[in-house]
Amino acid sequence: MSHKAKKRFGQNFLVDTRIIADIVRCIQPKPADHMVEIGPGLGAMTRPLLQQLKKLHVIEIDRDLIARLESDYPQDNANTPLIIHAQDALQFNLTILPAPLRVVGNLPYNISSPLLFHFAKYAERIQDMYFMLQDEVVERMVAAPSTPAYGRLSVMLQYRFSMEKLMDVPPESFRPAPAVNSAIVRMTPLPPSEILVRDETLFAQIVAAAFGQRRKTLRNTLKNYLTETDFEHLKIDAQQRAENLGVAEFARIAVFVKSV
Ligand code: SAM
Repeated sequence: MSHKAKKRFGQNFLVDTRIIADIVRCIQPKPADHMVEIGPGLGAMTRPLLQQLKKLHVIEIDRDLIARLESDYPQDNANTPLIIHAQDALQFNLTILPAPLRVVGNLPYNISSPLLFHFAKYAERIQDMYFMLQDEVVERMVAAPSTPAYGRLSVMLQYRFSMEKLMDVPPESFRPAPAVNSAIVRMTPLPPSEILVRDETLFAQIVAAAFGQRRKTLRNTLKNYLTETDFEHLKIDAQQRAENLGVAEFARIAVFVKSV
């Protein structure tokens, strides 16, 4: 039976078998890997992944798609290789899955940023993550300081993950075709020794304040956190804007604010 794609669940199904094979090649699944796929949909990536894995967890919200998956992989079979979690991925507690965990997903683009932040919370349990996203979002994730795409999303993910854009995926690779270009990004948690941020809440507040008014100088946007003397002490030019500061400098500001 054919499935009518639902816009509210951001359903654009991958149909290009060459792209699917390229993605699976990038992921390099090993039989014993602990892996979870977000939004398996009609199983475009699920089936090739299952050919290489002993077990795969999937999280899907659409009851029609869940019913299809369940008919192919009955969940009352204790030996099923596919374990279906019929849930909203935004509410899913990743700690119930074994670690280190590999996360993959062609994400619904309407909720991609909240999903990225939700999974980022579990970085300690994650080996790596491979996501298909809107290309514009991937460009923002991997952007370097002083480039137009650099912003809050770049800083809030780069302090915790190393990220790499792996490939472009054109709209024709999906049914229905999305209105935008897509790309695959790999996110690998940084080792604890490379994480400079200690108080994540304070760091997030400072980054949000700095980028809240992107065109204003740091002197202005961070006035609730830093005095003129503080800027001098930190050797950070208060005339700059948030987009000019690297992740390490934001981390330095957060550590300083915490210490005074
Ligand atoms: N993986 C499939 C593919 O590549 O063809 C489907 C990708 S489609 C872009 C996104 C999938 O995520 C759909 O199956 C959709 O139903 C599911 N989805 C949307 N919102 C979700 C949510 N909050 N939690 C879990 N799954 C969701």
